[in-house]
Amino acid sequence: MPEEIVFYILLLALAGLLSISLSIFSYFKLREAPGGRQYVLATLLSAIFAFTYILELLSSSLDEARFWLGIEYLVMPFIPGYLLWMCMELAGIKLRQRHLYVLFIFPIVTVFMHHTNGLHHLYYSSVELRTGVPITIVDLEYGPFFYVHSLYLFLCLSISVVTLCFQLTKPQLRFRLQVILMIAGLFVPVAANYLYLNELSPYGIDLGPVSMSASFILHGISLFSYQMFNVLPIAREKVFDSMSEGVIVVDHNGAIVDYNLAMKLILPQLHPLMIGKPIQAAVSMNSGLDILLDSGVPCDFENVTGTETKNYQIRFSPVFRKGTILIGKIITFTDITERVALQNTLKKLASYDGLTQVYNRTYFHEKAESNLGTGINSIILFDIDHFKKVNDTYGHEMGDIVLTQIAKTAKNLLKPDDFIGRYGGEEFIVFLKDREEIDAYLLADVIRKEIADNLVTSDNHVIRVTSSFGVSSIENNSSSANERIKEAAGRADKALYTAKREGRNRVKTYRSSLGSLQTMQDSFHQ
Ligand code: GH3
Ligand code: MG
Ligand code: MG
Repeated sequence: MPEEIVFYILLLALAGLLSISLSIFSYFKLREAPGGRQYVLATLLSAIFAFTYILELLSSSLDEARFWLGIEYLVMPFIPGYLLWMCMELAGIKLRQRHLYVLFIFPIVTVFMHHTNGLHHLYYSSVELRTGVPITIVDLEYGPFFYVHSLYLFLCLSISVVTLCFQLTKPQLRFRLQVILMIAGLFVPVAANYLYLNELSPYGIDLGPVSMSASFILHGISLFSYQMFNVLPIAREKVFDSMSEGVIVVDHNGAIVDYNLAMKLILPQLHPLMIGKPIQAAVSMNSGLDILLDSGVPCDFENVTGTETKNYQIRFSPVFRKGTILIGKIITFTDITERVALQNTLKKLASYDGLTQVYNRTYFHEKAESNLGTGINSIILFDIDHFKKVNDTYGHEMGDIVLTQIAKTAKNLLKPDDFIGRYGGEEFIVFLKDREEIDAYLLADVIRKEIADNLVTSDNHVIRVTSSFGVSSIENNSSSANERIKEAAGRADKALYTAKREGRNRVKTYRSSLGSLQTMQDSFHQ
């Protein structure tokens, strides 16, 4: 074998070794740099290309050479796509999933057409061994699909160069040298390809693998120095990911652009493949969230996952380019679970009676007002009989137990729409939704019996207590809700008074108590 050939084989081997070394180095050092991942893959593919090309040159038959050519065509067509992707990343342009589909469909078609060439001869019209050269050179006559691949290569390199040149026009560009190195790197394979296709390379050897390794050195220096001097994206990413707030960025069409780690914890279904997809698709599992996000109005959101409930405050901040053009928004989820729990506790403290755990008088009125509606509602007022005696005989503590027990007994007999409040010392009030006086009377009598039949027990005592009840419906007149409830409570109080007067442990409706009240008033006036 002539020395010149040995030299080229060694050069190819060197190129392969260089590419694989750059790939390994960049895997550990450049992975996180913009374009780093694409660089790792491009250099790896280029190394495989170089080594298989050596094996093609050293083949002893056309079939063997074709086999190695086939292997080369499994990796080589993808390299321009990765180069373009790498340049885009360096220019700060994030390619979406649909862009990547377009970018890689061409090499996939090339691989397919190359491997099925025997059937259609659209990639090569003829494949023959060159004679008269001291090495295996496969002479190829190109079919139309070869030019499709060449066009793809040309477009990838051109778009990369144009995008990077455009970056150079930006006055605020800080990494000018890095971008220039990247552009220079892209021209090396173009030059080599020109020599190869015009048969200017020695013995028609494809200088592609060697040129790629050379260009990867320039790209590597560019990426490495970019990463070394550019702490900003890394710092920004660190801040973004260490934020306790969940942040998701969407573009002006509502497609996901980015999200941070905290956001992933809130919506575990988020996945890098969702970048570019509408945010609605990503939150379809969280009922109501899509509508909240669609509204763009700051709001609170309750997220129930399994047994856990979390509360978030959602805020929206518009993102403008050049201060005026709306290009998207940042959606922030702040965990307010503790605050909501505290608010609920405070609300409960403010609405409930601490001893009996039924509503206090103020909250009872509020709730009754909001429940009035248009139907007929009724009120029951009841008071424990001779409660002073309970306190005097058994002590205040036992009095408290009696109060608690009676409140519980009454509460347990109510329907879900009814509610009870502590109206005064040992007086309770019940609201019955959509029920007339007669229904209230019947319920009051059930409560009365239950209280009278159940002994209140403590460690030391067993007591039987009774209660007296007054019942009245709430009138549907033109007065305010507050007035109507107060009037009904007043009437129920009068009926309760009658019940006390008539001997206690009984229920009186306002209507049935009227005669009794009249007699009482008459005797008072006499
Ligand atoms: P009647 O209603 O049958 O006419 O007789 P009574 O003994 O129940 O009458 P009154 O309304 O005068 O007495 C109410 C008593 O309830 C007076 C007060 O000491 C007691 N009381 C009020 N609030 C509480 C409380 O929170 N705990 C205890 N243990 N007693 C209370
Ligand atoms: Mg009493
Ligand atoms: Mg009383």
